[in-house]
Amino acid sequence: MGTTYSISYYPTNSEMSDDEVTSDVHQQIKQRLLEVNQVASTYIPDSELSLFNQSLGDEPVALSEDLNTLVAESINLAELTGGALDVTVGPLVNLWGFGPDKVPNKTPSPEEITQARARSGISKLHLQNGKLSKETPLLYVDLSTIAKGFGVDEVAEVLEQNGIHHYLVEIGGEIRVKGTKAHAEPWRVAIEKPISTVQTVQRILQPGNNGVATSGDYRNFFERDGKRYSHIIDPKTGQPINHRLVSVTVLHPSCMIADGLSTSFMVLGHEKAMALANKENIPALFIEKLPDGRFKETFSEAMQRYISRN
Ligand code: ADP
Ligand code: MG
Repeated sequence: MGTTYSISYYPTNSEMSDDEVTSDVHQQIKQRLLEVNQVASTYIPDSELSLFNQSLGDEPVALSEDLNTLVAESINLAELTGGALDVTVGPLVNLWGFGPDKVPNKTPSPEEITQARARSGISKLHLQNGKLSKETPLLYVDLSTIAKGFGVDEVAEVLEQNGIHHYLVEIGGEIRVKGTKAHAEPWRVAIEKPISTVQTVQRILQPGNNGVATSGDYRNFFERDGKRYSHIIDPKTGQPINHRLVSVTVLHPSCMIADGLSTSFMVLGHEKAMALANKENIPALFIEKLPDGRFKETFSEAMQRYISRN
């Protein structure tokens, strides 16, 4: 996934020493993450997803359980968010220079954007009984917006299978926590101030047993002629998003869903995303950058109880 991971856990009673448990469980986790990459990475030319992307036929292809889960959830999230999340925006992501392709040295022309849009659109992707097909051979599926969250859920699953129920798992900033630290202390997660130059704390959350995912365009962007280009694309326009919202953090029992929702909320912008979060009872923390440079925080109703007061 092109990133790092870290795992903290509190040992449960075991015949093995803590070091033996750690090394054994870590081995299983590495194995599981390699499997996930081999399914869903667009950087691995022979991953299951890459093979689907390269195939030119419209015949339905039977999916592995993992890819089925990822694609089914992508389709659910696209429906829930009115198309803000669209895992077929890949050609546009690449065109703007954020995919496996190289950064282009100019802003794409309207014609290039039109061409790339013809190769995208989640409505051209069909999942039925575990089989996936595409209406147009050049459709390109890019699951990077939920893959880290999925990886986190799968690592948590490995821990659970090994009898570990108190943990914090993190892959590239997407997190899932369960149980407590030693002495029944709750896990606390610091949300960064959305500044690319320094790391300072904006807010502390006590997420309970939940995934915590943050999407923001303050780290992953490029600048050309003084303008900032986000790595998140609005599927409705084919352009990088461009509004005051700079970071969104979402809690959900599934880190995969939290991951997808945080990116979706960035696409939707503050007003629409807040309305959706309140309608669906989703805990969400929004940070906007005001014209005077200050940051403004707002929470959905469901987020209130997770805000740490100290
Ligand atoms: P963030 O942490 O900012 O949410 P993610 O890596 O989770 O970033 O998701 C952003 C990635 O998803 C982009 O790099 C791009 O590959 C892809 N992407 C960009 N826009 C969209 C979109 N509207 N829907 C789905 N995926 C997108
Ligand atoms: Mg995301």
